[in-house]
Amino acid sequence: MPLPNRFLTSALVRNEGDLFLFDCGEGTQVALKKAGVRWKSISAILISHTHADHVTGLPGMLMLSSQVERQEPLYLIGPPRLKDFFDSMRRSLEMYLNYEVIVQELRNPEQPQVVYENDRLLIKSFPLRHTRVCVGYTLEEKQRPGIFYPEKAQSLGIPMGPLWNRLQHGQSIQTPEGATVHPSQVLGPARRGRKFAFVTDTAPTDGIVEAVAGADLLLCEGMFLRENEADAVEKKHLMGCQAGEIARKAGVSQMGLIHYSPRNTERDLKILLQETQSVFEQAFLARDGQFIQLPNIEEAS
Ligand SMILES: [Zn+2]
Ligand SMILES: [Zn+2]
Repeated sequence: MPLPNRFLTSALVRNEGDLFLFDCGEGTQVALKKAGVRWKSISAILISHTHADHVTGLPGMLMLSSQVERQEPLYLIGPPRLKDFFDSMRRSLEMYLNYEVIVQELRNPEQPQVVYENDRLLIKSFPLRHTRVCVGYTLEEKQRPGIFYPEKAQSLGIPMGPLWNRLQHGQSIQTPEGATVHPSQVLGPARRGRKFAFVTDTAPTDGIVEAVAGADLLLCEGMFLRENEADAVEKKHLMGCQAGEIARKAGVSQMGLIHYSPRNTERDLKILLQETQSVFEQAFLARDGQFIQLPNIEEAS
C-alpha cells in the first residue's frame, strides 16, 4: 500500500527520448509529476503481473497520455488477463483515448522472449515465480558502432561531411575517387549497449540470474528482512539478502531495492540495506523520484 513518501511500484526508463514504463502502481502519474519528468508520449508500458499494486495506476496514466499529441500506438505488454483488465476498465470508465493502445499479452510467459524491439533496443521478458503469473523484464541496447577515427578517414581520402556520418552509422561508402570504404576501416570495435533489468514479486529462481546477467542497473524487489523469511516464502516474495544473492551471481553493476514492505520503517530499511549489502555491496534503497543515469559504455562488446 502507498505511504505518504512511498508510492507503489513503477520505473520509467528514458532512452534517447523514448520512454518505457515498467509497472504502474496506484499514483504513478502523481509520482511522475512530482519527479518533474519532462513529458512525452510513452512507447510501451510493461506490466509484471496483474496484482492491484502493479496496475491500478493505469487508468490515470493512459488518460494523462491523452494530453500529448501522438501518432504512434502505445504498447501495453504483460501476462494473460491484462487485456481483460484493460478492456473492462476502458469500457466501464468510458475512457476517451486519442491514440491507439495495442495490448500484447505474453502467449507463453514461461518462456523468455522478446516483447518489444526498435532499431536501438530490445525488451525481453522472463518468467518469475509468484502467486500469479508474473514476469521480469530486461531492456538492452543493441551494440553501438565503434569509435570513429577521423585521421583514418582523411588518409583514405574521405572528405569531412555526410560521408563521415554514414560511416559512423555503420554504412559503407564510396569516396569521390570511387573507392569503397567499409566502416571497419575507420571505426574501432563495436561497443556494447547498456542493460537495465526489472524484477519484482517473485520467489528466487535460477532463471533470474541468467536473464539479468551483466546488467548496468538492476531494480529488484527486496520486500522483506531476514526475520520475515516465513512471510517471504509463503507470499512468494524476495528478502533483500536474496535480491543481493541474485545481483552478486548475475554480476550486475548496481542494484536498487524496490517494493519493500510498508511495514518496514526507515529504521527497518537500514537493516534491509545492511542485510543486502552484506551479500552485494553495490546495493542501494531505490527512492521515489530518484533519477539514475547510466553512462554510455565505451568498451568493445
Ligand atoms: Zn504480486
Ligand atoms: Zn506487488
